[in-house]
Formats: sequence, C-alpha cells, structure tokens
Amino acid sequence: MNAMARGGSPALDWIVLKVAQRCNLNCTYCYVYNRGDDSWKSRPALISDVVVAKLAERIVAHCAQYGLDAFVVELHGGEPLLLGKKRMQRLIDMLRQRCAPVRLRLILQTNGLLLDPEWLELFDRNGISFGISLDGPPEVADRFRIMRNGQGSTQKLLDKIRALRAAGPDFNRLMGSILCVVNPDLDGGKLVHWFVDNGFDAFEFLLPDGNYVNYPQGWRGVEPYRRFLLEAFEAWYAMGSAAPQIRLFEMMMMGFMGIKSPLDALGGDLRRLCVVESDGSIGVSDVVRICRGEYANDKLDIFQHPLDLHASVYRLAQIQQPCAQCQACPHFASCGGGYLPHRFDGAGFDHPSIYCHALYALSERMLSVIRRDLPPTLLSDPTTSLWTASLAE
Ligand code: SF4
Ligand code: SF4
Repeated sequence: MNAMARGGSPALDWIVLKVAQRCNLNCTYCYVYNRGDDSWKSRPALISDVVVAKLAERIVAHCAQYGLDAFVVELHGGEPLLLGKKRMQRLIDMLRQRCAPVRLRLILQTNGLLLDPEWLELFDRNGISFGISLDGPPEVADRFRIMRNGQGSTQKLLDKIRALRAAGPDFNRLMGSILCVVNPDLDGGKLVHWFVDNGFDAFEFLLPDGNYVNYPQGWRGVEPYRRFLLEAFEAWYAMGSAAPQIRLFEMMMMGFMGIKSPLDALGGDLRRLCVVESDGSIGVSDVVRICRGEYANDKLDIFQHPLDLHASVYRLAQIQQPCAQCQACPHFASCGGGYLPHRFDGAGFDHPSIYCHALYALSERMLSVIRRDLPPTLLSDPTTSLWTASLAE
C-alpha cells in the first residue's frame, strides 16, 4: 500500500534495525567505525527484548496511523549474526507476534563470515532473505575488508560460500544480492565478469561514502569512479539477456522511462525509512552520520517518539531538495542528484553529489545506448511519445 504521510510525502515503511553494534570485521572504509562517528561505542552491543517490544508497538501504531498493511524490517549491524541464533529467533518471534496483523517482511544484511547451515535453516524457517557484502577477488578486496587482526577476510568468505552451495540449494535460494563497494583501482568490466564467473547473478555497486568535507578514503578525484562505472556498464549491457541484475544500472535506466527510483543512492526519499539503533535511538540513515553535527546526534528514540518524527526533526523535505544544478540537469531523472550524505559540504546539502561527474557520464552513456537500441518506430509512436520524448534527440 502506498500511503502518504503528512504533507503528501510517502509514509515511512522501512526500518534498518541495528541488532548488533559490533562487527567481526574492521573494513577500512566502514561508515560505522572508520568515518568519524563513534556513537556505536556507547550503545549496547546487542539489542534487548525491551527495545524490540517497544519497536513492535511503534510499528503497529505507525501502520495503523498511515493505513499500512505491510512493513519492512532490515536486520543490520555491525554484524547482525553476532546476535546469535537463539536471540535472533526470539527477536523474530517477538516482532512477528506483536506486529500482527501487519505483514512484516524481514531481510538481513551480513558480511557472511558467520553463516552456516543452521543460519540458513533459521532464515528459511522465518522467510528471511539476506544480502552479503563482497567487494571482489581477495587480492584487491582485502586491502579494505580486513578482520580485527588485520588479515584479509575475502578468501574465508568465498570458501564459506562454496561450502554452503555444495551443501544444497538453500544458499542460492535465500541469498538476495551482493553489496559491492566500488574500488576505483579496478576495471569495472572485469569485476562484473568476476562476479558472474563466481556464480553471482545479482549485485549492487555502492559508491564509497564521503562528502565535500570528508572525502572517501584514498580520494583522487571522481575520474577513477567515472571510468569504473562506465567499464562496468559496458560489460553489463553487452551481456544482453545473460546480464546479471545490477540494481544501480537498472534503476538509472528506469529513470529514463519515467519511473522514479526509490534507491537512496539515486535521490530516493529518505522519509520512507529510518534507522533504529540497539538502544532504540532513531536516526535518518546511518550513513548520514558521516556528516556529523546534528546528523550524528541522537535526538529521538522509540521510547519517547513516533517513528516518523525524524522527517520533521531533521527537516528531510528541505534538505533533500535537489540543488539548482541538479534541477537543471538533463540527467536528473536517472541520477536524482545522488545520495544525500554525498552532497554535504559541512553546512548543508545544496550541492550535487561528489560523484556528479561519474553519474552524469554514466547517464549520458545509458541514454546513448537506449537511443541506439530502441526501435525507431517506438520513438515516433504517438502512444509512447510521452515517455520517449525525453529519449528523442
Ligand atoms: S562488515 Fe560492514 S559493518 Fe562490519 S566493518 Fe565491514 S562495512 Fe563495517
Ligand atoms: S548528474 Fe550531477 S548535476 Fe545531474 S542530477 Fe546527478 S548529481 Fe545532479
């Protein structure tokens, strides 16, 4: 159901729930531990039953207020599997029982290192699909994805995935998508092929988090990201019907067809979701914390405030407004101005993304292949002229 909140904005229908604040990895680019926000240190390592029970109450009240019959809870961390199987099952049971009759969709994001057949069984039993973070082959990914002892983690993860796949179909059936943080030192095309060759048919590229006052680690300007994205897109598009799902590319191309992307990386409306920390604090998006200042303060919590108050307290309608440059940009439909935290300059968000140059070039390339490959009759057909008008030269 597409209910509307106050002021005609879409209602919040998604919570990122921090069930564990710690992680068994220490990725160098991690926005939780290594981008200047230390709030995780003062929160409980694991979420308590008291927080879960109050959250369920808030979800029920929120859904009743906005007429929602379905709601998404994304189990997140740190590393959510650190909660352990018994506590995870108890959390799931509490949420499902106390949120009924709201249909809860539960998903989970993990670094995958603690997965085992019993976790897969638990996910299967509870209708949970999961995503895994994997940045590519160990020799490059492990410069960033390191364990607490400084050793790389990727070969361990690949061995784990191989073993779980060998044990039966559950891993592939339950795994939704890979999250891959873009490494601009790599060839994007080769990386797309690496994922496909390793049996991954759905993955997502994330641009490393940073902004105009807190650039991503190793920043050498936006050009390497432009090159990476174009290489990845060319490889992906050339695969035709055999291409894997890459949400960033699919959503951007849908933008050209008049379908607004809900993806936060493409200017999706952040009023639709909030983060709930292990102590019950409510935040905008955990990545927005890299902007520090008021965006890293805990002003709200589920014990005192409703779930949707973050939208007005953090003035989301205002700060999400695209800047003048984005409003005038011919590629706003595909790019959306980028991800909100990537637009921050220390005072506000009235800028294009730090990745503007790369997103613009990618949009240009997408538009040119759409124009090249659409049947000419479609571009001149009056019944499709509304959406093809933006594609016509
Ligand atoms: S696995 Fe995720 S939460 Fe853990 S350190 Fe890496 S990026 Fe951070
Ligand atoms: S390409 Fe740049 S200017 Fe255009 S919408 Fe995206 S961020 Fe804004």
